Amino acid sequence: MFDLIIKGGSVVDGSGRAAYHADVGVNAGVITAIGALGTDARASVDATGRVVAPGFIDPHTHFDVQLLWDGAARPAIEHGITTVVPGNCSLSLAPLKAADRRALVGMFQQIEELPPAAFTDAFEWSWESFGGYVDALQRKLALNVAPLVGHSVIRLWVMGDAAQQRSANAAEIAAMQQLLRECLDAGAVGLSTSFVDVDERLHPVPSRYAYRAELDALAKVLGEYGRMLQVVPEFYATDLTIARIDQLAELSLKYRIPTTFSPLFDSAATPENVPRTMARVEEQFARGARVWPQVQTRPIDISFSFERPSLFFARFPSWYRVMRLPRDERIVALRDAANVERMVSETGADGGRTFLGKLRVRGGEGAPDDLVGRTLADIADARGESAARCLINVSLEHDLLVPFLAANVGHQDASRVGPLLAHPLVHVGASDGGAHVTSFSTYGDTGFLFSRYVRETAHLSLENAVKKITADTAAIWGLKNRGSIKPGCAADVVVFDAQRIDRGDEHAVFDMPGHGMRYVRHSVGVDTVVVNGAIAYRDGSYTGSSTGIVCT
Ligand SMILES: [Zn+2]
Repeated sequence: MFDLIIKGGSVVDGSGRAAYHADVGVNAGVITAIGALGTDARASVDATGRVVAPGFIDPHTHFDVQLLWDGAARPAIEHGITTVVPGNCSLSLAPLKAADRRALVGMFQQIEELPPAAFTDAFEWSWESFGGYVDALQRKLALNVAPLVGHSVIRLWVMGDAAQQRSANAAEIAAMQQLLRECLDAGAVGLSTSFVDVDERLHPVPSRYAYRAELDALAKVLGEYGRMLQVVPEFYATDLTIARIDQLAELSLKYRIPTTFSPLFDSAATPENVPRTMARVEEQFARGARVWPQVQTRPIDISFSFERPSLFFARFPSWYRVMRLPRDERIVALRDAANVERMVSETGADGGRTFLGKLRVRGGEGAPDDLVGRTLADIADARGESAARCLINVSLEHDLLVPFLAANVGHQDASRVGPLLAHPLVHVGASDGGAHVTSFSTYGDTGFLFSRYVRETAHLSLENAVKKITADTAAIWGLKNRGSIKPGCAADVVVFDAQRIDRGDEHAVFDMPGHGMRYVRHSVGVDTVVVNGAIAYRDGSYTGSSTGIVCT
């Protein structure tokens, strides 16, 4: 007698071997049998005509805070995600002294575009230690969580304000090492650090004040546990990224640890970036180092309005400055002729036509009917204005609420991204799940991998695509007994239609704490998601299960 049988499906087991027909039997949360298993079970799932695969693992997320009010990380789980890694990019919710909470929330707000209410309105912040955070997390998880601990918070704990002022002395480095050990003992699966991020005052985050000796000392502790070092390199500059690959490779070889860096984007503006970066990755792997580049599947799409700051304006300093002003001052600045002149000239001699002309007004709240679907170039021509001026005026005329979409800003050329995703040394991930909620949907990248790169372009076989986001991920991160359909493995399973699996349309919802907005995508073609033997999602509904665990 089984607790659960998944019957009659086509098993794609994560190893890369060809799909085969079999039932999958589960007992006590673990896969116990594969074959022709009959019907003797307390529950069953009919998988006829469907693929039965290991649950997908998302290795780069910022679900740290969402998991505290939504243990299913909706809508991640309906896309087949059964394990997520939060705590990336040097930021985690522990270890953190109560006095430093505001500083961390500021960093999350600036870097990951999460609203402050997400940290204050929906849960009680009761912990300081990493173990305390893990306990709070485990209360009602519908999926598994393999959390990283952030270098910036470790530094903040040990050094206080000095964490954003100077390098650490020997005693402070020793204290950070000890603190990292405690986090790893309490369930952290590695350390994350960043070489690029800034806080809400635009000051470098604490991890950026570390000298090499500090990161080396922390990597030494990771070596004691064989755990991951995750890094955000200077991804906008290929030479600097390559220098970081070399630095990571030395740490990987010296301490026998895996390392991973993200993002690695393809872009028409810097076509040499991916080939040069991958050439160095290949050289370092040939030496025995593990430096896994993480590559996302989706193209870069960015939505914004003048209602709040957006990363879209990162390359236009005077726009960026104006967007960060309080709302009333922002409106005053957008009406100030001299200021507008400066903003317009910053977008180029053509009044922003090249950079901004392809922007499109998207539907949704605040979108004027007569403008929805039109490009900014089209609207500007009709009004006899430059694109930049039109963007400002249209926003002012509609109370700053008009939503614009910059589609395919990069990473959209399938003839280049497809082979990259299929590269054996590329770690498919980097969704940023749960972050940048007002700029784009970080949900649905796995569905997109199948619709675009398996069905449409055939850069990956079904079996290889599944392997890339299950068994490969578990192996890279050292997650034990996950990511495969085989006896003894945790019963994390997704049942989907290989002909239909996809991401749905991106749309805005207002379900963040404090009625905050975020962009989401629902799944298409995913029937059933099982986490540790329990059905978490079935036929379009979440079951309310809570069988997720903090897993290492
Ligand atoms: Zn990140």
